Amino acid sequence: GGTITRSMFYAIERKKNEMAMESCLKQERELREIKSRFISMLSHELRNPLTTILASADLLEKLTEEFSEAKKRDMNRKIKESAGRMNKILNDLLILWHQESPEPTPVNPSWFDLPQFCQNLVAEFQIQLDNQCSPKANSIELIWVSQVKSYPVYLDLNLLEQILTNLLSNAIKYSPNGGPVQFDLMVDSNQVIFRIQDSGIGIPPCEGDRLFTSFYRATNTQGISGTGLGLSIVKNAVDVQGGKIQVNSEVAKGSTFTVTLPLMVNPLLMDPSDCSSP
Ligand code: ADP
Repeated sequence: GGTITRSMFYAIERKKNEMAMESCLKQERELREIKSRFISMLSHELRNPLTTILASADLLEKLTEEFSEAKKRDMNRKIKESAGRMNKILNDLLILWHQESPEPTPVNPSWFDLPQFCQNLVAEFQIQLDNQCSPKANSIELIWVSQVKSYPVYLDLNLLEQILTNLLSNAIKYSPNGGPVQFDLMVDSNQVIFRIQDSGIGIPPCEGDRLFTSFYRATNTQGISGTGLGLSIVKNAVDVQGGKIQVNSEVAKGSTFTVTLPLMVNPLLMDPSDCSSP
């Protein structure tokens, strides 16, 4: 009996080793695939705006005399828009790099007026939309709805900006036919809720939590540029503040992202002189 048991034991051990090697090889292969997809995505996403910048700068240099002022302004705007896109990608990569480090993202709260901050952000987005070169952007209207006009909160401005700018720019980007984007703010003494709603392309039902993984993009995004970094940055900024994020979406109907952030300090107990303007 002993020999059989021992040979069975060795067979099992051999099998285990084989399986470990196989899974190691599989993991290595998967890692290689992710790396190559990442490099190809990144070079593509950086090359597009760079090509626009180089071509516009070239034209401006060669044809300065013949161009109307309006045409020159238009070229200039294209250069700035493209440089802005590249800047955002590089910034996102830096945030991701910090995010993947072993230390958790630091949270540095300060007092500021939340509705005022959100309203300024919406106004900045609207100006950008109105100045954009593509025609669809002009038909996007940002609707800002807030329960309160003034509400001091003790939150991390930087992280909040990461959350809201990514959600707002996604809502705009994934509304290729224009249409309104609504941003709602709801508050109470222990939490604040942000809701960003679009009537764009929507998200296929099976995507689920994968949307929040870095570099992941849903299957219906062909033709719309992106790196798949925005939502992973949003998720991390929400998580480190103890908040929640929820998505409701229907393909071709639109998407709603809802973020809830807990308030560590009750605004009603705050000294108004502490509140700096954002
Ligand atoms: P990116 O927009 O650069 O692809 P994100 O991480 O911001 O990356 O978003 C991940 C994916 O989630 C997107 O590729 C898209 O498939 C989906 N998504 C995010 N926001 C929306 C939205 N408002 N409408 C439709 N799809 C969205």
